[in-house]
Amino acid sequence: MKIFKLFSIFLFLIVFSCVSSTKNDNFDVAKTPKFAIAIHGGAGTILKSQMSDSLEKAYTEVLTRAVQSGHNVLSTGGSALDAVEASINILEDSPLFNAGKGAVFTHDRTNELDASIMDGSSLNAGAVAGVKHIKNPINLARSVMEASPHVFMYGEGAEAFAQDQGFTMVDQEYFFTKSRFDHLMRVQNTQEPTSAAVFYDPILKDSKFGTVGCVALDQNGNLAAGTSTGGMTNKRFGRIGDAPVIGAGTYANNKSCAVSATGWGEYFIRGVVAHDIAAMMEYGGLDLASATSVVIDKKIPELGGDGGVIAMDNQGNISMRFNTEGMYRAQIDVDGQLKVGIYKSDALLTK
Ligand code: ASP
Repeated sequence: MKIFKLFSIFLFLIVFSCVSSTKNDNFDVAKTPKFAIAIHGGAGTILKSQMSDSLEKAYTEVLTRAVQSGHNVLSTGGSALDAVEASINILEDSPLFNAGKGAVFTHDRTNELDASIMDGSSLNAGAVAGVKHIKNPINLARSVMEASPHVFMYGEGAEAFAQDQGFTMVDQEYFFTKSRFDHLMRVQNTQEPTSAAVFYDPILKDSKFGTVGCVALDQNGNLAAGTSTGGMTNKRFGRIGDAPVIGAGTYANNKSCAVSATGWGEYFIRGVVAHDIAAMMEYGGLDLASATSVVIDKKIPELGGDGGVIAMDNQGNISMRFNTEGMYRAQIDVDGQLKVGIYKSDALLTK
């Protein structure tokens, strides 16, 4: 009798635990997967006092369109990589940003573009540097990642690969914008560079901003990051910045976060910025906001550089941190909330 009683209690416990675990499963299934996206269009001395209402409106419009286009990819079940590409393509096609159309001029009056992309689920990555005839360098970076055994290609080799892959090539004239050309003239008239040391001249400090980037989390829980730029005005000697350097300007790892950087590239390379943030999270247990703060508020300024990052963790939390007057930026968070910011005073996005 006693054994029978014990057996019934045992049976009751088993049935109860099954029922409650089914309940939990159902609850999990009912949970909608999280997805989110954030973009930047460069950091620098962006002051409201120097911005006209119409220009501010134009920036806000393109940033909104770009972030929404990536978000549409995510909301219809598309991958974080596709979302990153979609958003960056819109920024590359806008003359307002220093990437694709609107890229800054080199010392020799050419436009040389850099880009990179990384898949946080596989740690696969692709990058191109110094390309002169690719309308959307982020697409070529993605092809390097997916259609070649390599990670990083530069110059003519990268363009030969692009032709192989069926990319349409554009003339250098495609990249011409009067404002960027005038900027080159101003910089060159201010100081005629004589050596590589001129890159560190404070007058040139603001000659490089306007890079674009994107980080995204898709419904499958995968992170991706991408960055695209024309580099810095008046660059010489085949100078390459941080944007195409995996771990410096771009990094994504599902275990921690996705990061895209913008700023004074030399310092971002030396600070291994994007990977540093991910490593602090993965190995040091820091949360996203603390990790971006260590690098942007402390490490980079201590080295003498400036700029910012957008970063997203694997839960879709977003951090947009910069130590400049402003950073063009936009996000649609896990709750579907759209926010656009330009200046430091747009505090809600500086977390
Ligand atoms: N980081 C880029 C570079 O140094 C410039 C920028 O972010 O605007 O090439």
